Amino acid sequence: MKRILVSGGAGFIGSCLCTRLINEGHHVICLDNLFTGSLENINHLFSNQRFEFVDHDVTLPYNTEVDEIYNLACPASPIHYQYDAIKTIKTSVLGAINMLTLAWQQNAKILQASTSEVYGDPMVHPQPESYWGNVNPVGFRSCYDEGKRCAETLFMDYYRQKSVRIKIIRIFNTYGPRMLPNDGRVVSNLIIQALQNHDITLYGTGEQTRSFQYVDDLIEGMMRMMDTDDDFIGPVNIGNPKEFSIRELADKVIQLTDSQSKIVFKPLPHDDPKQRQPDIALAIEKLKWKPKVELDEGLVYMIDYFKHNFLK
Ligand code: NAD
Ligand code: UDP
Repeated sequence: MKRILVSGGAGFIGSCLCTRLINEGHHVICLDNLFTGSLENINHLFSNQRFEFVDHDVTLPYNTEVDEIYNLACPASPIHYQYDAIKTIKTSVLGAINMLTLAWQQNAKILQASTSEVYGDPMVHPQPESYWGNVNPVGFRSCYDEGKRCAETLFMDYYRQKSVRIKIIRIFNTYGPRMLPNDGRVVSNLIIQALQNHDITLYGTGEQTRSFQYVDDLIEGMMRMMDTDDDFIGPVNIGNPKEFSIRELADKVIQLTDSQSKIVFKPLPHDDPKQRQPDIALAIEKLKWKPKVELDEGLVYMIDYFKHNFLK
C-alpha cells in the first residue's frame, strides 16, 4: 500500500483517480479547495479508512508523508479558469512549486496533469510531444495555457536541478461521469441541453475539431505513466486520436438522447483552437497503452449518468 496524494482530487478526473487508487488498496490523501470540485464527487470514499480529504489551497505549502503525488489541482473548463485568471495562473505555478517541494522533501514521485493546451492553436497536426506549440501569451486562455506551460518548465527544472522524480502527461479533451452539469465544457453542455430539449449551443461554425477521450482510459494511462521507471519522464500525450468536429459531436448527442433540441450558433470564444488530435505513438511504445472506449460508447455512459444523477 502506498500513500498517494491527489491534488484536485474532488474534481472530475481527480475523483475518478481517487476511486481507482482506493479500489487498488492505497491510502489516498485528496487535497482540494473545492473551487470546481465537489464533496458529492468523493462522498462514496469517506467511509473508507484509507481515504483522507484535506480542504487546502495548493497555492500554499503543504507537508505530509507521501510516496506519490498526482498534481491535478487547477480549474480546467474555460469558463471556470477565466473567472479569476490571476488565481488560475497562481494555482498552476505556485501549486506546481508547492507540490514539487513536497516531492523533493519526501523523495516522492510526482506526476503533472498537463494539457493539450500547451500546443495552443496548433500548426502541426496531429500533435506530437516534440511540437512546441502556437500559444498566445496575452489572450484570455493564456492564464491556463501559459500557467500549464510554466508548470511543465518547473517540473523539468526540479528534475534537472534537484533530481525530483517527475512525470509529465499532456491530457487531451476528456469527458465522463462526475463532470458537473455546470462544468461548461462541450460534452457536458451538449448532453444536458439535449436531455432537457433545450437549444444546443455550437460556438462558431462547429467545424473546429477535438479528440475526445473517456475518463477511464485516461486514468489507466495516468497510472501506467506513474509506474514507469524513473528515467522515463515524458512529456507524453494521453488522448484518443479519433477526431470529430463539434458539429459531429452535437449530431451524435442529439441522436443518442433522441432529443428534440435545435442547434443554435453562438460566437466563437477568443483563441478557440481550430483543431486538436494527439499523436499517441509515444504512449503506445512506452506505456503499452491505447484508449479503449470510443465516443459513441462513452457518450452512452455519460448520458446515463446525467439522467440518473441530475435529471431525476
Ligand atoms: P476540474 O475542474 O473538475 O478539477 C479541478 C480540481 O482542482 C477541482 O476539484 C478544484 O476544486 C481543484 N482546484 C482548483 N484550484 C485549486 C487550488 N488552488 N487548490 C486546490 N484545489 C484546487 O477539472 P478536471 O477536468 O478534473 O481537470 C483536472 C486536471 O486535469 C486539471 O489540472 C486540468 O488542467 C487537467 N486536464 C484536464 C483535461 C480535461 O479534458 N478534463 C484536459 C487537459 C488537462
Ligand atoms: N463548445 C461549443 N459549445 C459549448 C461549449 C463548447 O461549441 O457549449 C466548443 C468550444 O468553442 C470548443 C470546443 O467546443 O471549440 C471544446 O470546448 P471545451 O470548452 O470543451 O474545451 P477546449 O476548448 O478547452 O478544448
